[in-house]
Amino acid sequence: MQTKAYAAQSASTPLAPFTIDRREPGPKDVLIDILYCGVCHSDLHTARGEWAGVQFPAVPGHEIVGRVSAVGSGVTKFRPGQIVGVGCMVDSCRECESCREGFEQYCDGPVGFTGTYNGPVGGGFNTYGGYSAAITVDEDFVLAIRHKEEDLAAAAPLLCAGITTWSPLRHWNAGPGKKVGVVGIGGLGHMGVKLAKALGAHVVAFTTSAAKIADGKKLGADEVVVSKNEDEMKAHANSFDLILNTVAAPHDLDAYMVLLKRDGAMCLVGVPPAPHPSPAVFNMILKRRSLGGSLIGGIAETQEMLDFCAAHGITSDIEMITMQEIDTAYDRMMKSDVKYRFVIDMASLKAA
Ligand code: NAP
Ligand code: ZN
Ligand code: ZN
Repeated sequence: MQTKAYAAQSASTPLAPFTIDRREPGPKDVLIDILYCGVCHSDLHTARGEWAGVQFPAVPGHEIVGRVSAVGSGVTKFRPGQIVGVGCMVDSCRECESCREGFEQYCDGPVGFTGTYNGPVGGGFNTYGGYSAAITVDEDFVLAIRHKEEDLAAAAPLLCAGITTWSPLRHWNAGPGKKVGVVGIGGLGHMGVKLAKALGAHVVAFTTSAAKIADGKKLGADEVVVSKNEDEMKAHANSFDLILNTVAAPHDLDAYMVLLKRDGAMCLVGVPPAPHPSPAVFNMILKRRSLGGSLIGGIAETQEMLDFCAAHGITSDIEMITMQEIDTAYDRMMKSDVKYRFVIDMASLKAA
């Protein structure tokens, strides 16, 4: 099926209209008419070729909310007309230990999981994401969206920014009695603050932008620290159970490692194009601190997060854009000028 999309043809060309071919729904497939697609910093890293292994043409977009327009004969979980979501994955091997345990994002199969765009982690073929009018997805990788109609655009970023922060918050037991830091108030960070707060933790947001202090508090942070201010940073030494670091650029990790208490952990979710400077070993061994990382989240935990957010009225703070405005949105994202997630109204693509 010929489908309208927006693609980067190379790392140095702006995104532009492109026609892609979507498969007719097979027995287990759901065909989705895309209503909204969030704009993740990973879309920018991909479209601009900042990571190794990017395939072109690249059609980014993995925060998809849409309406089911058709289902295959064997589909049991979804029906036409239903509002659904698609996140960062559209397939995995389904047989390995990680897949069987519901952590498809860590699929140990021969090529790993299949990204919603840029194909399987191990390569082989390309896939096209949500900057498009429609997508065909196996029902096992489709999520039910239970938010109110008027919240659907703002629910789209939950499909990546939401689950990418939810999964480590749950894994490291963020909750009552825990002090949780979130570094970077961007797309991921602002969801991390909201979710950590909703889980009952004491939340401290770290920002490089003093202009975001008031917003950080509105989002739910108990405290907001401007990370360039050394005294403000020192006041939190040895006190965090968990720090979630969402920053998309290389920076000094030691500034945060020393804020962890004994046995505390910093989880990296930001994926800068170049490595961070190595953290100092002494900072880690003296208090048995750990440094880890986390990748998006499994399908079951994504549904759990979506249902938690629907029940608690949690959505993303968004700025709606047209498909045609995507490159300007990327440029603003590079300047940390996003409040706090761009979402593309896909009607603008369909009308063009
Ligand atoms: P974003 O909206 O651009 O937010 C990143 C935030 O980091 C900025 O708003 C800014 O917050 C802070 N920041 C930016 N440059 C900085 C610098 N040089 N030094 C310190 N802070 C800086 O991006 P996002 O969509 O949240 O994505 C963040 C990163 O996570 C990206 O690398 C993305 O690829 C990655 N990601 C990873 C996963 C995963 O599964 N692990 C999933 C999705 C995205 P302040 O203004 O508050 O400082
Ligand atoms: Zn993403
Ligand atoms: Zn697998």
